[in-house]
Amino acid sequence: MASLAVQTTPISHPKAHTHSPISLIPKCTSLAQLQQIQAFSIKTHLQYDSSVLAKLINSCTLNPTTTSMDYANHLFDQISHPDIVVFNTMARGYSRSSTPFRAIILFSQVLSSGLFPDNYTFPALLKACAGSKALEEGKQLHCYVIKYGMQHNIFVCPALINMYTECSDVDAARRVFDRIMDPCVVVHNAMITGYARNSRPNEALALFRELQATGLEPTDVTLLSALSSCALLGALDLGKWIHEFVKKNRFDRYVKVNTALIDMYSKCGSLEDAVSVFEDMSVKDTQAWSAMIVAYATHGNVSKAMLMFEEMKRARVRPDEITFLGLLYACSHAGLVEEGCNYFYSMSEKYGIIPRIKHYGCMVDLLGRSGRLHEAYKFIDELPIKPTPIIWRTLLSACGSHGDVDMGMQVLDRIFELDDSHGGDYVIISNLCARAGRWEDVDYMRKLMKDRGVVKIPGCSSIEMNNVVHEFFSGDGERSVSKVLHQAVDELIEELKLAGYVPDTSLVVHSDMDDKDRELSLRYHSEKLAITYGLLNTAAGTTIRVVKNLRVCGDCHSAAKYISLMFNRQIVLRDVQRFHHFKDGKCSCGDHW
Ligand code: ZN
Ligand code: ZN
Repeated sequence: MASLAVQTTPISHPKAHTHSPISLIPKCTSLAQLQQIQAFSIKTHLQYDSSVLAKLINSCTLNPTTTSMDYANHLFDQISHPDIVVFNTMARGYSRSSTPFRAIILFSQVLSSGLFPDNYTFPALLKACAGSKALEEGKQLHCYVIKYGMQHNIFVCPALINMYTECSDVDAARRVFDRIMDPCVVVHNAMITGYARNSRPNEALALFRELQATGLEPTDVTLLSALSSCALLGALDLGKWIHEFVKKNRFDRYVKVNTALIDMYSKCGSLEDAVSVFEDMSVKDTQAWSAMIVAYATHGNVSKAMLMFEEMKRARVRPDEITFLGLLYACSHAGLVEEGCNYFYSMSEKYGIIPRIKHYGCMVDLLGRSGRLHEAYKFIDELPIKPTPIIWRTLLSACGSHGDVDMGMQVLDRIFELDDSHGGDYVIISNLCARAGRWEDVDYMRKLMKDRGVVKIPGCSSIEMNNVVHEFFSGDGERSVSKVLHQAVDELIEELKLAGYVPDTSLVVHSDMDDKDRELSLRYHSEKLAITYGLLNTAAGTTIRVVKNLRVCGDCHSAAKYISLMFNRQIVLRDVQRFHHFKDGKCSCGDHW
């Protein structure tokens, strides 16, 4: 043993000479040390000893400091008759790696060698399918699960649900869930998280309520998904209820839960509550600081967002990419071009954070909003990564707000090279052309949309009332909304007109419509339906909170200002871009959004 390299490495142990170096495997902190032990095993003729190989494989698949799936695979190949335990270790390792699908390939070996999968095999394989979005292989595995009679296994069930939701087949996941006799909290969590991740927050919250009705205790995982669903829906009342639950059951000891609360309050329009959660936190990590910076940014409070960043640095908490997204977002919405550029360059130069496409998007937004359209165009053209349609779209909407038709057309060409199926692009250009009186171009765009079969995403606004979220779609008042609401909107508009509101019919881009038709086509926009519904169904003075799936249109924005003044109501409207707080006839965005 005296000649062993092991003795000269940091893994040497006071009692190393009394032990076989094999026992040092769990203490290895680098791949090189593992390889030294393998060298020792060859020297001592233990190179084919499956228990030694299994230990080495275990270390280089699961120990984060020595992870190497290539090396694990090399060792695995030397085992003449691998048992299911070693295979499971390999499958688990692959399922966490950047090449999860290799776990599935390995599984075919297991089947042909006559081994029987056990209840650790399927969770690892299903996780691998989830990681590689391999729905077909996932379904095949589901068949094997049934074949081996493990469809009720406590480890396999949540893994099946997770596989289906990660592969976006949420309904299949629900069928698995519904067949489980006594679903435990882990199974509930998998399903609730699946709904939340697939943007089906209503179903996530419905299941969250069912979970409580069954008497099972929610865990921190349940609460995280429920809170993110509330955030998606803007369901403040339910969010507040969950907050009470969190306090009562001491879940506020989890930093993650507090961070989810900050995010929920911010997205539901209550910045004050977000701040108070943040201030009460005893431990604040990077995510918590970032959530607060993002909250200030989306609420348009730029100076606070920047101040938070200074405090974060003083508290010696390292910023991450989300921190900078918040800062860049804040700067772009306040037109602080220079400050934004400084943050952008410092993030890679000072903190070594590589900008991602979203950061580039913020920069384009920053330049575009301040009217530096040509600079923004050049910036996208020179990106080190391939620009996405979204990043061009950011510039397109800047062209829209600055009324630059020619630049808009140029950008549209670049978008169409990548994707011509997005209805919103045609709408922006049509609006732009309509304002410039270029009706021929407007008609051409409409024809293009029709020929290409492009459909506009219908506007949808939602409002929460007594823990139920009501959704309204633009224009379909006849179908889903009662006649009463329709008439109420009609009456409301007439009242607003008396106070000085003028419908902005220039936003309607049909050249063949007369003014009356144009006005009517604006009238039943989803945000107007939702706000009117709120006015009718809440007590005087209650704040009306509406969430919209697209950007708020100029006409609804103006109507909301009049409503806040005439009915003495605060209206908080969250659109896809930001928050609008309407009060006393004014909006927090200063009409710039
Ligand atoms: Zn509108
Ligand atoms: Zn506004």
